Parts: sequence; structure tokens; C-alpha cells
Amino acid sequence: DGVVYTELRRPCRAMILVNPSSGRGQALQLFNSHIEGMLTEASVPYKLVITEHQNHARELVRKADLSQWDALVIMSGDGLLFEVINGLMDREDWQEAIQTPLGILPGGSGNALAASVHHYSQLPPAWNEELLLSCGFILCKGLVGSLDLVSVRLASRQRLFSFLSLAWGFVADVDIESEKYRHVGAIRFLMGTLVRLASLRVYKGRLAYLPVKGASEPPKGSTRANPPPPTPQRPSLCSSLPCRLAPNASPKPDSRHSANSNHGAITNSSINAVNSKAASPADSLLPGLDRPVPEGWTVVREEDFVLVLAIYQSHLAEDLWTAPGAAADDGVIHLFYVTAGISRPALLRLFLAMEKGAHLACDCPHLVYQRVRALRLEPSSLQGMITVDGEMVEYGPVEAQVHPGLARLICG
Ligand code: ADP
Ligand code: MG
Repeated sequence: DGVVYTELRRPCRAMILVNPSSGRGQALQLFNSHIEGMLTEASVPYKLVITEHQNHARELVRKADLSQWDALVIMSGDGLLFEVINGLMDREDWQEAIQTPLGILPGGSGNALAASVHHYSQLPPAWNEELLLSCGFILCKGLVGSLDLVSVRLASRQRLFSFLSLAWGFVADVDIESEKYRHVGAIRFLMGTLVRLASLRVYKGRLAYLPVKGASEPPKGSTRANPPPPTPQRPSLCSSLPCRLAPNASPKPDSRHSANSNHGAITNSSINAVNSKAASPADSLLPGLDRPVPEGWTVVREEDFVLVLAIYQSHLAEDLWTAPGAAADDGVIHLFYVTAGISRPALLRLFLAMEKGAHLACDCPHLVYQRVRALRLEPSSLQGMITVDGEMVEYGPVEAQVHPGLARLICG
């Protein structure tokens, strides 16, 4: 059940969206110095679009003639990709639109997907400009795999599509509070963590989840609980295969998904949702926030948390290898939570260990890890922050479920 890649159409016409204010404000400069030449050498024709304001990319992608583009590439942090994915899902033709291959070039301060894509290609860790070069190379190589998206439903009935994370408590607070240190780059998360540790607090609420069938809790004290990702099986890159990803030449949904046999029942239900020409993919696992959680869900006994983090990529930041066993299309939400009572040094130890993906080996009794398909979080603390892909969303109860392989990602 190795990863299955297809190849980008050649020549690949890429729309590259750059957020000039992401990270240290150098995304455009970094593009010119590190990526432009690489794309020229690889004969990748592209159009550079510099975003002018928040939601510019979302609006642009919502209206774009996607038949002109073989790939949408984001040179920013994770926030700009969040906009692009939600712009694609806003469209009436979302079923086709979300099949547009997405690429990521780290230009922000939170480059979690870029770090994950680099990691999936089994290269040794890289940071900063080295990570950028690696992602540029992956883009030029042009292999495309599936990407899970998670549908997130808020109390206001607003619905979002997320490719990275849903966080509440410590991690969400650090995400948002550290934005003011954006000018220092990726190290803003470490600074934010140290500041937040000084004012560590408890977040009250209820958490429930639908576990992955047959998933057992990883053995305590073992980072090997998750096997390393399988070695990608690269198909021979033959242009006669149905691998051209221009929207009007894209393979049928059934053949697209048949290659992934490891998603079980949930894949089938989401394919049905995709095929039924629904206004948007149905969240068949979610009962609705006004109803009790269904049978088969686990309700967490503790109601005092320090953090709840659902992540569906390997990295939460360039130097946070949070979900060691995660793959872009494993169909799994990797759910972590830390219960109240953890000491400051123990929490700091967890985050420091996370750089090497060794936090589960810390044997911390307050840290719990579960592989899930869906979850519900109902904060009862009056104040707090919830983030989706690092962006702040409305605070209150949320439900989420994974849609395996709904999008496509340039990786491998
Ligand atoms: P970073 O990792 O540095 O935070 P992001 O890609 O996450 O970078 O972008 C941060 C925020 O900036 C996102 O909310 C995004 O929507 C917003 N944004 C995008 N383009 C612009 C722009 N031209 N000016 C200001 N904000 C923008
Ligand atoms: Mg995943």
C-alpha cells in the first residue's frame, strides 16, 4: 500500500501566489533569488501573483479559469494555502477544482506543510533556505499525490476545509500570540512557547472522537508506535498513462481513488459524497453539534486540558515533528491532548523533544495520542482561541472529520 504518485502535465503551467507580507516579509525576494532560476531551468512556465490583502488569494481562486492552470503554488506560510483551499471549495465546480495540484514553497514563518512535504520525500531535515530549495526541487520534479482535507464545522454553521491542524489551548494561543514576532521567522513559535509557559493555564471543555477502527493506543514510551512512512513507489513516468492533470484531462474520481486501498469504509463514503454532485462533500461521520455523539465514539473523561491538537501532516512547524507516522493521505487525524496537571518543565520537555519527533517517548502521563476519523470539541472556558491551519476561527464548539485524499499535493 505504498504512496501512489502521478506526474504533473508538461509543460506545467503554474500560478504562483506570493504573500509579500508573510514571514519576515521576504517571500518575493526569496522567490527571485532561489526559485525563479530553478523554474526557468526546468522549463516550468508560470505566472506570479502577488497578493495584496488577506483573502485576495481566496477570491482570486474562487473565480479563476482553472483550465488555464496545471498547478496552484503557494509561496507563503500555511495561511495562504488555507485561503486557496477554501477558495477552491467555495466554487460550484469544487469537485474538479479541488483536484488542481497544489504546491507549497516556504515563504512564511509557519511553514508546516512545506516541512511535511520535505519530510515525506525522506530527505534529512532542512530549514529556512535549504527547505525552500528542496521544495522548489520537489515542485520541478512534479510528482502529485493525494492530500487529506478535514472538514471543520463551527457553531455558527460556518464550514472550513483544513489541511493541517485544529488547535485549542496552548498551541492555538502560541500560534496567534506569536504572530507579533513574525519578523523573526520560524523561531517565533519557540519564543511564543516560552512566553506562554510563563502564563500556563488550564482550558476546560469536553472532547470526543471517533477512533480509527482497529487502532490501538501506541505502546507507552515508544516513538516507533508509528511505522515510518512506506517507501514511495514511483510509477514509471510514462506520458501515456492517465496522468495528465489538466482539469479537462483529469482521471475519473473512481480511478483516482482506486489506487488507495488503505482508507476502508470512510473512503467509500466520501467518494459517494464526491460523486453525488452534492453542494459540498457530506460529513457523514458528524452528527451535528446539537446532537449527542454517536455510538462508537470515545468521550474523554478528563475535562481539564492544557492543549488539544488535531494534526494531519507530520510537521506543525519547520522544527516540530509532531505526528511522526503521518502521511499526506493516510486518512487519519492524529489527535494529541495534554491534560491539566503537567508541570512547566515537563511541557517544555515535550516541545523540545518534538523537534526530533520524540515527545511520545518522554513517557509523559499527561500526553495522549489517538488516531481518529472525526472529533468534537466543546470548550466551556469562556475565553480561549481555536485555530485552523494556524488561523484563528470563531471560538466555541467545533466538529471535524477527515475526507481522505480530497485534494492533490505536489510532493514525493
Ligand atoms: P505566515 O506564516 O508568515 O503567518 P501566512 O501565509 O500564514 O504567513 O500568511 C499570514 C496571513 O496573511 C494569512 O492570514 C494570509 O491570509 C494573510 N495575507 C495574505 N496576503 C496578504 C497580504 N498581501 N497582505 C497582508 N496579509 C496577507
Ligand atoms: Mg494525514
